[in-house]
Amino acid sequence: MIANFVQLVYLVAAALFVFALHWMNTPATARRGVYAGVLGMVLAVVATWLQPQVIHHQGIIIAVIAGFVVGIPLSRVPLTAVPQRTALSHAFGGLAAGLVGTAKYYLWFGEGPAELTAFRTTAIIAEVILGFLTFTGSLMAAGKLQEIKWIPQRPVTYPFQNVTNIGLLLLAAGLGVAVVLQPTASWAAVAFGVIIALALTFGVLLIIPIGGADMPTVIAILNSYAGLAAVAMGFVLDNKLLIIAGALDGSSGLILAIIMCRAMNRSFTNVLFGAFGQVAPSKAGGEEKIYKSETIEGGAQVLEQANSVVIIPGYGMAVAQAQHKVRELYDQLKKRGATVKFAIHPVAGRMPGHMNVLLAEADIPYTDLVEMDDINPDMPQCDVALVVGANDVVNPAARTDKSSPIYGMPIIDADKARTVFAIKRSKNPGFAGIDNELYFSERTWMLFGDAKNVVGELVKQLSGPSVH
Ligand code: NDP
Repeated sequence: MIANFVQLVYLVAAALFVFALHWMNTPATARRGVYAGVLGMVLAVVATWLQPQVIHHQGIIIAVIAGFVVGIPLSRVPLTAVPQRTALSHAFGGLAAGLVGTAKYYLWFGEGPAELTAFRTTAIIAEVILGFLTFTGSLMAAGKLQEIKWIPQRPVTYPFQNVTNIGLLLLAAGLGVAVVLQPTASWAAVAFGVIIALALTFGVLLIIPIGGADMPTVIAILNSYAGLAAVAMGFVLDNKLLIIAGALDGSSGLILAIIMCRAMNRSFTNVLFGAFGQVAPSKAGGEEKIYKSETIEGGAQVLEQANSVVIIPGYGMAVAQAQHKVRELYDQLKKRGATVKFAIHPVAGRMPGHMNVLLAEADIPYTDLVEMDDINPDMPQCDVALVVGANDVVNPAARTDKSSPIYGMPIIDADKARTVFAIKRSKNPGFAGIDNELYFSERTWMLFGDAKNVVGELVKQLSGPSVH
């Protein structure tokens, strides 16, 4: 009776997970998607807890409390820290899968060797390798993104690195095969421990050659590893919901990683093995290029005259937390009858959807958020392109300069607008570490300063009596 009820609840939870992902497709239904996901997870946990074979309730209560104690502060991190926060979640997920697999193996090794069928032992080995490598890999990724001192941001490379890494993984897999063949042999218990150590080491070695720049993509890949570990755990525990949820997690992580790679015009192997983000030697002997700066008053005057304005937000808007000021500017320009749109690049900022989330937080109607491919044809007719802390995603070198590391990456054609204002604090490059021709173009004027201050000053000017 209770078993049937649990299976029914699992079915509902699985459906809720699928709907959650579907609803997260568009900002209009994203909130509903989050609620559906949370509800599905609560149902899954409660239904599992209700099962009669669960007897250690105290331990579960302690674990739930510990989860809240860690989870609530984790949910309060600023948006700019969400990629590393997500990495930490994957680390915990990977560790949980690894520990469950380890506990199950040693439990059955001692008390129920008949349980260690070839199928189940294979699932345990997969769970443990994926779980533990996700654990250390995700911790390293989080550390790189958080810029922890003793974890180098730049890619760390050494000779035969890929061969060593792949060799280590093959060794772990080879030992895994041996354990599957003779799971109850006395040496198998030791070999299992060695597999754990190899997986933990592999997780670290997998991440160190990858630069901080590629970390968000790597986190999406680690997300899919964590999902696969959960699938394996589902087979070990014979839990269908875990298999479904893990498969959804694994495939969505993979799809996300592919979308991110495409938006950066990079291949998967280039992200994982390309050591992107190494400091490139600066070109010597080049003449110093000239930036034209504009004053706030001058910028406000041009904006006041504009009929169509496209705002292009980037990572700098997130750093400055300028989205609310940007909203005020949007209101001011709309009040003057201008058409105002936001051009959204898929990898602007540091995580997919970064700009959408920030602009939604400032209650900017998502109907005015236009995807890159849809806004680009309109850019030549646009009076003012206002670049707010974006750099790489508006760099024309991606279209023209074959030697550029971002060559081939689709960009927002800000340079085609009649006038460009670019807000940033200094002459420093963006994420890819390269100069941006857009800033030296005849049509571009720089508004140097922190994005929140500059946009705030523009709003003040525009909301004053008249800027003429
Ligand atoms: P960039 O990192 O290229 O540039 C951001 C710019 O913002 C910098 O030039 C910086 O200049 C400026 N800035 C920083 N802080 C402030 C501030 N407080 N006020 C004003 N300006 C500021 O950002 P983009 O969004 O253009 O591009 C994103 C990059 O990240 C791409 O290279 C993309 O490939 C990469 N990436 C994105 C991922 C994603 O999922 N979104 C994932 C992985 C990588 P200054 O210091 O002079 O102020």
